[in-house]
Amino acid sequence: MPADYLKPLLRESDSKIVLLILDGLGGLPVQAGGPTELEAAKTPVMDRLAAEGTLGQIVPIRPGVTPGSGPAHLALFGYDPLTYLVGRGALEATGVGVDVRPGDVAARGNFATLALDGTISDRRAGRIPTDEALPLVEMLQAIEIPDVRVQVKHVKEYRFAVVMRGEGLSPEIEDTDPLRTGLKPLAPVARDKASEKAAGLYAQWIAKAQEVLKDQPKANGMTLRGFGTDPRLPQYQDVYGLKAACVAVYPMYKGVSKLVGMDVAKFEGESPQDEFNTVADIWADYDFQFCHVKKTDSMGEDGNFDGKVAVIEGVDAALQTVLDMQPDVLVITGDHSTPARMKYHSWHPVPLLLWAPERGLRDPQTAFGERACAAGGLGTFPATDIMPLALAHAGRLDKFGA
Ligand code: ZN
Repeated sequence: MPADYLKPLLRESDSKIVLLILDGLGGLPVQAGGPTELEAAKTPVMDRLAAEGTLGQIVPIRPGVTPGSGPAHLALFGYDPLTYLVGRGALEATGVGVDVRPGDVAARGNFATLALDGTISDRRAGRIPTDEALPLVEMLQAIEIPDVRVQVKHVKEYRFAVVMRGEGLSPEIEDTDPLRTGLKPLAPVARDKASEKAAGLYAQWIAKAQEVLKDQPKANGMTLRGFGTDPRLPQYQDVYGLKAACVAVYPMYKGVSKLVGMDVAKFEGESPQDEFNTVADIWADYDFQFCHVKKTDSMGEDGNFDGKVAVIEGVDAALQTVLDMQPDVLVITGDHSTPARMKYHSWHPVPLLLWAPERGLRDPQTAFGERACAAGGLGTFPATDIMPLALAHAGRLDKFGA
């Protein structure tokens, strides 16, 4: 159980906590001595919060470990990702609204382009847009496999999710994506005896899917990865006594939130302002809101330093909408670093800002950035400690012991 020592300490309160995650927030200078993306961004609002609050930096998984966004979010929510392993297929399928139950086996799929010899020439089928992918997903939905119920749902562009429900299924199955072009898709191989049945059923499904897709110009093949099931994670209400909501645009983040017991808010639009308006709209209904901004990470992965700076500035410009709701605790951080210079997730610790006007201890830092956070009052600590800190600053924890 995450933070099970907290449970006896939980105290009733009507205080409100917001956890704002800028995905891949942490960065690096382009040239030694220069600013990082967050340091280069003009963020008057977050700098004011930094001056009034306390800074620190978090280690998402363990020092030196580069995290995926799924496990990194589990850590933010207080679940040690080395204990709670969740296949990304289960996160993505849950995120697009498939009811993934314990015992189901979910996978995430990519449409791919295959050459005449069956090797993969494009792992993303030319990133076919959603309107081209939807009819293909419909074709896949028509595939039937004896003894199991198969659900296929579109996720975004070239991506979809597959979920199988039946007796005796287990998700320890190897990815079929070889992760390189010039190779054929791999077979779904079971990693243990218990998963052999599901692996065999998936092999049947893949063969039929291949047949259905073979004459498509771009998406004439596909791969599956991230096999997983509902891991029965402890629920937020039980663990923290919090009625929690997720405000996110991308399916995987909705999925991981749903699996820990958060409600997923429905709203129009994709901008930080749209998300913050939603936070305000549902304010009265929740004790805790997790709000997720994706584009910082996307820009980092594209190597677009200025683009990442602009996304951070956009968040800052819209943030007043959240502050107007007068949260008791606002935590702003990332799930991991995605330095534009590396075009990839990295292991670096992630800057964190804790603002709690009533109970916070101001440190000497006056701007939100990597170096200020490295010198901040909270020091460097595991991401799994964010929730206890947030609860304490929200007046939701009693004394431990006499
Ligand atoms: Zn991420």
